Amino acid sequence: MAEVIGRLAPSPTGALHLGNARSFLIAWLSARQQSGKLLLRIEDIDSPRVKPWAQQQTLDDLRWLGLDWDWGPDVGGPHASYVQSERLERYREVLLQLAEDGVIYPCSCSRREVAEAASAPHESSIAGLVPLEGAIYPGTCRSRSSAQATGEFAWRWRFEAGEVSWNDCVGGLQCANPSLQLGDFVIGKSDGTPAYQLAVVVDDFDMGVTEVVRGSDLIPSTYRQLAILKHLRWQAPSYCHVPLMVGTDGRRLAKRHGDTRLSYFRQRGFKPELIVGFLAWTLGLVEKPSPIAARDLIGRLDWKAISTAPTVFSLEAFLTDHA
Ligand code: GLU
Repeated sequence: MAEVIGRLAPSPTGALHLGNARSFLIAWLSARQQSGKLLLRIEDIDSPRVKPWAQQQTLDDLRWLGLDWDWGPDVGGPHASYVQSERLERYREVLLQLAEDGVIYPCSCSRREVAEAASAPHESSIAGLVPLEGAIYPGTCRSRSSAQATGEFAWRWRFEAGEVSWNDCVGGLQCANPSLQLGDFVIGKSDGTPAYQLAVVVDDFDMGVTEVVRGSDLIPSTYRQLAILKHLRWQAPSYCHVPLMVGTDGRRLAKRHGDTRLSYFRQRGFKPELIVGFLAWTLGLVEKPSPIAARDLIGRLDWKAISTAPTVFSLEAFLTDHA
């Protein structure tokens, strides 16, 4: 069998919190457990949200947690650069190819127009996640051809009708009709930069990634990425979507739930083993939330033991338990 190549793909848009750390821990564990390789890629093309300090802090946080990588911006590797903002030419080349193939179209609709034209409310059957992503594109510019790319426009992917499915390591069979449930999506932004969907597909392919382990908030994106991969006839990696951590109010872990940044735990003198042990316990990898080093978890990852339900986290309870 071909070697497993996993990846850690942080966006330097803020500090890593416990929820991010949990997905990275599993991505790392899965690759290491299969004696595979792991790359770390910085996804910094979402420029308005990128924070200059976040890249170094992310690397420091992950290392502190006990994770390592074979290739990355700080260690190099056969597919360097591992920083998306340094690969823009490559994304542009693939975007041009897609335009030539006629699978994307120029779209001049503003965000506001899309929101207003789409029928509300935007309930979707994809695990209730799509409403978080905003309106479903109503198809206003769908019949425009690549040759009509003038003025200010973004490139949108034109979904074909029909179902897309994959077998997820955590959630099992995933199946949806993305043209109805997600709608056409932006693949090249109006400022000329690629959208996340394009960059991630090109990178995972170019870098030989065989396994994508990430948070379940990206399930809708997997449908999009599979459509691009299929058109390009590029082999899709396997997908494992780790359930999100939520606060006691059921909402995705965020600032409102208190300070769950890894850097904060680090500054308060928490040992990384304590955080790793706790995260491993929330994933059903160990029976008790006792301290353990990440490397001592190798061999314990069992996808079937991971529940698809979100994990409820209370910082208050955590701090009380670990006072
Ligand atoms: N960079 C993305 C994020 O931090 C993850 C992308 C992916 O894993 O495909 O949310």
